[in-house]
Amino acid sequence: MNSIFNLTLEELISVLESNGFKKYNATQVFEGIYKKRVSDFDDISNISKELKSFLSSNYSLDYLSVIDALKNENTNKYLLNIGTESIECVLMKHDYATSLCISTQVGCNMSCAFCESGRLKKVRDLSVSEIVLQVLTIEKLENIRIQNIVIMGIGEPFDNYDNLVKALDILTCPKGIEIGSRHITVSTCGIVPKIYEFADLKTQVNLAISLHAPNDMLRSKLMPINKAYKISEVMEALDYYIEKTNRRVTIEYIMLDGVNDTKECAYELISLLKGKLMYVNLIPYNSTSHSEFKRCSKEKINNFYQILSSNGIGVGVRREMGKNIKGACGQLRASHKENHEN
Ligand code: SF4
Repeated sequence: MNSIFNLTLEELISVLESNGFKKYNATQVFEGIYKKRVSDFDDISNISKELKSFLSSNYSLDYLSVIDALKNENTNKYLLNIGTESIECVLMKHDYATSLCISTQVGCNMSCAFCESGRLKKVRDLSVSEIVLQVLTIEKLENIRIQNIVIMGIGEPFDNYDNLVKALDILTCPKGIEIGSRHITVSTCGIVPKIYEFADLKTQVNLAISLHAPNDMLRSKLMPINKAYKISEVMEALDYYIEKTNRRVTIEYIMLDGVNDTKECAYELISLLKGKLMYVNLIPYNSTSHSEFKRCSKEKINNFYQILSSNGIGVGVRREMGKNIKGACGQLRASHKENHEN
């Protein structure tokens, strides 16, 4: 049965109107499932018996089930069941708010050299409901409201673009979950045509780019997507996004020991970004047993940070959360798969 959480408000209006119900009924249903979080359509008190029966016969209200959870002081990592597959999401509890990092695909085809999810390859795209339900399921499980969402779990969001955009519509809908657009960040490896499409939506959703290298030769080695879209093309697309939205773009830069952490790399990065509305997020690398890469020392990260910062580039080092609980994207799912396959 189709999940009700696949439908945007517009789509629900059209389904209900074409089945003889009123437009305002869609708002009542949305408020019932997203504001009151009913677990049965019968519990939406302000709709007719006919509508309850129509909904129950055509749509499911099921949440996702949790297969595994690893917790530490400020980070919980969950493996969620989606039929024959599983997906990951990570809850991070900061002093000021809670953030949930969610996935958009099962595995990923982008094959970034340093990434666990890329190692497992894409099995399929997540449906709209599977993206939205990560948020609803964790909120119910933890009895919390999530303030920030980062779409940088498993998968390349722009490789599942249509479902991503619908899920964003539902997550931000004032009649629904109502998370502010500015509290959501989508992270892409740089699929250029989709950056233009996303900019044209003129949403206030934040954009982050996984750059990870300041020149094409190195980036193509780390991220095969760079063979399709060069850094200069990504930068042009980001300029367009900034012009359309006036939103600052985050440049994600994972620090790999001896690979992209040199002074030369820092200066190349500065000349790429100087004068642009961009902010660099330096990410300490989480080594895994499969990886050929090593973690940079704190000192190297700090040196890199200082060079950028003293040259007028906005920069921060990502606070490490979840390092001891298979914190990097895809690690929990990868280790589960291996345990079951061995
Ligand atoms: S880093 Fe992101 S885009 Fe690259 S393989 Fe991993 S999940 Fe895919």
